[in-house]
Amino acid sequence: MDRQIARQVPDEEWDNLLGIRTPNREQAMACVRTLLSFIGDNPDREGLRDTPDRVLRAWEELFGGYGADADIVLDRTFEEIDGYEDMILLRDVDFVSHCEHHMLPIHGKAHIAYRPKSRVVGISKLARVVDIFAKRLQTQETFTAQIANTIEKVLAPEGLAVLVEASHQCMVTRGIQKRDATTITTAFRGCFLESERLEKRFLSLVHAREK
Ligand SMILES: [Zn+2]
Repeated sequence: MDRQIARQVPDEEWDNLLGIRTPNREQAMACVRTLLSFIGDNPDREGLRDTPDRVLRAWEELFGGYGADADIVLDRTFEEIDGYEDMILLRDVDFVSHCEHHMLPIHGKAHIAYRPKSRVVGISKLARVVDIFAKRLQTQETFTAQIANTIEKVLAPEGLAVLVEASHQCMVTRGIQKRDATTITTAFRGCFLESERLEKRFLSLVHAREK
């Protein structure tokens, strides 16, 4: 449900709609105050007075993907491709997501390729799909699969490939503190899964600059 609409639904109705209680803005701000107290700070001091409100505004931006439908983004396709049948690759799509285990940032790049069957999509729409799934709490594995699933379902291409490389702040800033560790996840479908040649071409194009 759209975020704007969500605000207009009385709390009691959310109980029925979702079977869970979705807190209103005031309740959410009170939770942020509680956490500020929990870490040992004073939520009433001047510098923190407006922090709960700012945190919620930041969250609305960072987690805006819950109110968006990735299927609809890819819905408008073009069929005039004059017989083009090689892969279409969108490389280096920057994203910031948050891990669902620690709610800490995941910074990375997504690379997406597909070989069209009969229709293509505006290339910026693929970046928008990445954005929608990034702006939810994620694991990198789920994120990668969601991008692949959406393209497969809506675009029905001959095949597709998704490669995500990312750095997880929960590994960099806490716990084992591995600053340079990156995680790579991939999803190959259709002809990219069946043809080793196509898979290799995808991987070499993704990393072409590094040679
Ligand atoms: Zn984490």
